[in-house]
Amino acid sequence: MTDTAFPQSEILDRLHAVFGFNAFRGVQADVVERVLAGRSTLAVMPTGAGKSLTYQLPAVMLPGTCVVVSPLIALMHDQLRSATANGIRAATLTSVDMDRGQTIDRFLAGDLDLLYVAPERASQPHFLDMLTRGRVAMFAIDEAHCVSEWGHDFRPDYRLLRPLMDAFPDVPRLALTATADRHTRADILAQLGIPEEGLIVAGFDRPNIRYAITPRDNPLRQLMTVIAENPGPGIVYAPTRAQVEKLSQQLQASGRPCLPYHAGLDPQVRADNQARFVASEDMVMVATVAFGMGIDKPDVRFVAHAACPKSIESYYQETGRAGRDGDPSVAVMLWGAEDFVRARQRLAEVEEHRRAGERTRIDALASLVETPHCRRALLLRHFGENPPPSCGNCDNCLDAPRVTDATEVARKLLSAVYRTGQSFGFGYVEKVLTGVADERVTQRGHDQLSVFGIVTTDEAPLLRPLARALQARGALVATEHGGLALGGDARAILKGEADVPLVLVPKKEGRPGRRRGS
Ligand code: ADP
Ligand code: ZN
Repeated sequence: MTDTAFPQSEILDRLHAVFGFNAFRGVQADVVERVLAGRSTLAVMPTGAGKSLTYQLPAVMLPGTCVVVSPLIALMHDQLRSATANGIRAATLTSVDMDRGQTIDRFLAGDLDLLYVAPERASQPHFLDMLTRGRVAMFAIDEAHCVSEWGHDFRPDYRLLRPLMDAFPDVPRLALTATADRHTRADILAQLGIPEEGLIVAGFDRPNIRYAITPRDNPLRQLMTVIAENPGPGIVYAPTRAQVEKLSQQLQASGRPCLPYHAGLDPQVRADNQARFVASEDMVMVATVAFGMGIDKPDVRFVAHAACPKSIESYYQETGRAGRDGDPSVAVMLWGAEDFVRARQRLAEVEEHRRAGERTRIDALASLVETPHCRRALLLRHFGENPPPSCGNCDNCLDAPRVTDATEVARKLLSAVYRTGQSFGFGYVEKVLTGVADERVTQRGHDQLSVFGIVTTDEAPLLRPLARALQARGALVATEHGGLALGGDARAILKGEADVPLVLVPKKEGRPGRRRGS
């Protein structure tokens, strides 16, 4: 392919004519120019950075059709609506579309700028046949991290894209993702056949979002506080449909309109709730992670997580739905030991060759929730950036937590777990350590153990946060019956080879969303 045949001025004219924008944002210009010059590219851009435009603009400028691969039909239809609203000739080709014949005719006639398809279509021989009979301008692969087993959302169907695209060696590929750490990026390049020099990474910092992460002690009260402190529209993410239903009821007590959203709701109800949220200036949407992709609401003022998301990537993507308009917004996460216990239990079900990657992901999350240092700096380093050590706009920067060396107490706790047979829950172990000789304890002779009553009154309040921290880190794991057992680096701690710093969360009401100086 020749170098870009499009002068700058023409690109900017079309940007204005089609989208009504006067300028590109951030790396958009680089991405668009590369693609127009026929060079394959991987664009890693945070949510809200404007990824769609980077393929939609070349799609209207290049002769032929841009084939867009997207993992979700709902997402495709959202994209289709907004593209069509901008006067772009676009269609989706999915199992739910009734007008497939007409779409194929339009493609063959060169009457489409964008054709959205699901990855599984790529493996169908007649799809390849159809593409060869028309003109393909470029391939756009949305949510490209799905091609990587290192990514948090691997979809085997994405592996079928490479052979399809290889049949069109001169057609440029544009892979797009908001969430790719260094490993995943390298893997996407390799899997999709994009040269290393084709990697373009936008800055990940979202300076207007204030991050706060705090242990979950009274979630309802904690969420009420977040809502009360943030009068604008917000999203509360909960892990299960049942919790979404329950919380959306309970949070009505805040006096704000609250609606539920999850994949189990009737599609019409879901669409209505989404539309009402998008139009609202004070609504709280209580949702599973099914909510948010492809939703264009720039004035979301807060995102609260009732539980730990499944990875740093998910955390970043979900919190990234706050403050796309650039105004101050907050992201508050509540976490508990159970979140990590469950995640680590699920490791057993993960295929062997993916387990190490999955474990690294959980450990990374544990360090995000446990760090006494700047959250933003940790996030940005995770995405390969080199940020300043403190941001001044996260809970830890605004209100430095105290850190204590809890190694000694951790050893006592771990040896009590060990000596009582690694089968009791926290409450029981706490009794033994603090010297409560009740019937359960004496019957088993645990009042005779060397660890009985070994914890001082000063140390006792550290036990619960310590157990939580040790579970996050994996040094304590849960048995099948809910008891505690040793895991991870527990032995290193017991042998004095590993330290256990413990972050002491300030016991102030409303720490999560508190405004600076109040
Ligand atoms: P992403 O897919 O990266 O999350 P979108 O493509 O949905 O982001 O774009 C986010 C928002 O930014 C949309 O409202 C879009 O219209 C807007 N946007 C994109 N590019 C520009 C631009 N160059 N100037 C102004 N607004 C833009
Ligand atoms: Zn900070």
